[in-house]
Amino acid sequence: MTQKRLKPDEIKDLAARLNKVAGNLWWTWDEEAQEIFHELSPRGWQNLFHNAVAVLHEVSNYELSVRLQDSAFASRVRRVVDAFDRYLAAKDTWGGKHAPKFLKNPVAYFTAEFGFHETLPIAAGGLGILAGDHAKSASDLNLGFVGISLFYREGYFQQAIDHNNWQTEYYSLLNPANLPMEPVHDANGQPIKCKVHIASSEVAFTAWRVNVGRNPVYLLDTNLPENEPHYRDLTLRVYGGDTSTRIMQEILLGVGGVRLMRTLGIAPAVFHMNEGHAAFLTFELMREKIESGKSLAEAEEATRKECIFTTHTPVEAGHDRFSKDLMDFTAPKLAEQLKISREQLMGYGRVHPQDGNEPFCMTVLALKLSRAANGVSELHGRVSRHMWHSLYPDLPVEKVPIGHITNGVHLLGWMKGPVRKFWRRRFADEISRAKSSGGGESTRFWKKDPGSDWEKRLISPEFWQQIEDPSFVSDEELWALRYTLRREMIEFCRRRLLLQQQRVTQRDFIIFDHLLNPDALTIGFARRFATYKRAPLVFQRLDDIVGLCRDQSRPVQFVFAGKAHPRDDEGKRFIQKIIHLSKYSDLAGHLVFIENYDIHVARQMVSGCDVWMNNPRRPLEASGTSGMKASCHGCVNMSILDGWWREGYDGTNGFAVGEDSQPDSVEEQDRVDSDNLYHTLTDQVIPTFFDRDAQGIPRRWIKIIRRVMATLVPQFTTDRMVKEYTENYYLPKGK
Ligand SMILES: *Cc1c(COP(=O)(O)O)cnc(C)c1O
Repeated sequence: MTQKRLKPDEIKDLAARLNKVAGNLWWTWDEEAQEIFHELSPRGWQNLFHNAVAVLHEVSNYELSVRLQDSAFASRVRRVVDAFDRYLAAKDTWGGKHAPKFLKNPVAYFTAEFGFHETLPIAAGGLGILAGDHAKSASDLNLGFVGISLFYREGYFQQAIDHNNWQTEYYSLLNPANLPMEPVHDANGQPIKCKVHIASSEVAFTAWRVNVGRNPVYLLDTNLPENEPHYRDLTLRVYGGDTSTRIMQEILLGVGGVRLMRTLGIAPAVFHMNEGHAAFLTFELMREKIESGKSLAEAEEATRKECIFTTHTPVEAGHDRFSKDLMDFTAPKLAEQLKISREQLMGYGRVHPQDGNEPFCMTVLALKLSRAANGVSELHGRVSRHMWHSLYPDLPVEKVPIGHITNGVHLLGWMKGPVRKFWRRRFADEISRAKSSGGGESTRFWKKDPGSDWEKRLISPEFWQQIEDPSFVSDEELWALRYTLRREMIEFCRRRLLLQQQRVTQRDFIIFDHLLNPDALTIGFARRFATYKRAPLVFQRLDDIVGLCRDQSRPVQFVFAGKAHPRDDEGKRFIQKIIHLSKYSDLAGHLVFIENYDIHVARQMVSGCDVWMNNPRRPLEASGTSGMKASCHGCVNMSILDGWWREGYDGTNGFAVGEDSQPDSVEEQDRVDSDNLYHTLTDQVIPTFFDRDAQGIPRRWIKIIRRVMATLVPQFTTDRMVKEYTENYYLPKGK
């Protein structure tokens, strides 16, 4: 079929619309859009962190217009830009139906980090990724939502491993012109400018707008010539510097974020604090009310009505605490503005307001000044109620007002290309079968409405529940999909390892196909190397694990990745230990460490591994989300019953390590858990994976995969999570 050549205006129009798509993170969860950018500049796409904006800068306007003269390509581009416009214009939305008030007065979501995509590396870990996924689902649902964070121009650190296998950190400067963000302008077309009082200075800041589907996220930036260098660097790095930098970043985020909203004329109905970092926003809200004539008590009450708080960790060090001196120094005007004494101000951050020795805790402030608070899994909610019981001495512990909403992941953003294509093909098959049988035969729920919005069905629980039915998808097909994904990851690892090796040794002694075995049971572990996550735990029984890896008939292998905090030497020792084992022990070739864990590495690993291992020191993993990303790819969790897995595991959809309890002593816990890990592997995981029938298919394993998909995928999404936040928290009781 010959297609009509486009006229020059049409080409211009299409190019302009494609540029619009590049400027909206929507493309990060649309496969076809990514394919267009990839095709425009395959190397550019690969080398520039899969950055649509950078690719369009790489391709001249002239080249783009020439490429669009290929009518087949042009029609694919048109499909993408049409889909984008349809997405933005959709009328019949969940938010429009269930929470229309926020379309006018949005939910303002404050967070110190946002992890959207590898292009914009301004997240340190799970907290930021969750925030990014929250924003994406808010857009999908058409929930009125505005995000606030900081634009860290050097982002979070990049990890390189030196010749001593020691983590080193380096930073690269992000170039806003090459990122999917735009400066926010005032009415005169000038970059918007606001001020916030920090220490004895008025610190100026501007803002960038990131389009996340339908909603904006604003990133504050103090890198302005009128600021002293010290303040310009407040937005240099994610959690950069010492506690003094940290508190200043938090003043900027909380107080500055509210000021920006006011300047932009946005009147949020709810302020959601994602972790305590943002809690200074409550003081700014109180200040506004006191300035308009309210009493302190009234201001407090009114502020509390507007605020929601999510706590994310039971790890003590995860809760920011600042000394009185530091508060006095960095926020000297706060007390004055609220017309209270400095001691009174400190009281808002203390469990015992009168205790002059107690530091100022951001979590305490957030709990005191919000109308609702939650942890991020059922167990974490319970642990948090115990942790903060002293704030509510008159209540029994189970009445402490901290609930829970379990985390999730943004499904389409995490689902890898081959998996989308796999299901897309099934939709197409189903539709043509339904058509050829006159439509009467099919009992599939989408039969009435085949066609373009198959992605919507892809995130519906009904779809995933059908996967238990072998007539819907066969064992053979699922097993082939697993092989595709495992191979993609292994080849990705080999390429990365080659590059890692060349950098350190200047020679490549890695033989490409000798590292990792595409037929082996592949176990993945990737997350921050916080010590409570105990990355090297499985190697406590080293000889036994070596035996498993070197078993020719049932080979096992491990892929690790993760960053330690720059000041966490113990975490760095964990990395060193694992890399050492990967190079110099009998595990060489069966264990690899992939440098510079980020969203891209995460996507490869959660899709390609067969088993996703998690062994935190219970109950310190508040939720964990990487295991949720694994599920839609048929990667099976093997985890301690902590965080989300305690409620996700049902006895049939993966593997539990140990019981629903934990020993008191840390040493005992490590010993028991490493034994349990080993036994789970040898008693359950390995025998099931290698139990093959005459056709070579692991039927029992695939049955588990079906259970994973049917029970976990639809439950642990940010789609479900954002709906729960909206119904239970954002909408005040009684609506
Ligand atoms: C998902 C993700 C995390 C969080 O993983 P956990 O399982 O919660 O530890 C951290 N970093 C990156 C890059 C991720 O993609």
